[in-house]
Amino acid sequence: MLTKTLSVTAIENGTVIDRIESGMALKILDLLKLPKERQKITIAMNLQSSILGLKDIIKVEDWYLNENDANQIAIISPQARVNIIKEYQVVSKADLQVPKEIKNIIVCPNKNCITHSERMPTSFLVEQLSKGPLYYCKYCERRFLKEDIKLK
Ligand SMILES: [Zn+2]
Repeated sequence: MLTKTLSVTAIENGTVIDRIESGMALKILDLLKLPKERQKITIAMNLQSSILGLKDIIKVEDWYLNENDANQIAIISPQARVNIIKEYQVVSKADLQVPKEIKNIIVCPNKNCITHSERMPTSFLVEQLSKGPLYYCKYCERRFLKEDIKLK
């Protein structure tokens, strides 16, 4: 099966981000601010997934995701899986944790929020509900759904 072959294509060293919500791979790449001109990056979009229906995958050779990057990915696609690969072996696997507080990554969807007029860093608290996270702006004290938030 083609999708299966794609999803297991091995890299020698690096990071594989699997189970990304479909359509979010490019957003995540943007967020990670990789040096694109030097990095070997494979992106597969809209693969079949038994868990998600469709998913995206990102593979980056010779680069390792750190905890801060992982937290940022969790904001966009909390069900993503991160595999760290060394010499073709998965040396660590991590489920992502949405951070409790998100500083200066999200733009407040409330146009009247002071963070827009003052051009100041934003700060959101994340409240975990069974249907997904809610994002609480510390400045305008409003809550937003994941669908409403935009990244800076
Ligand atoms: Zn706000």
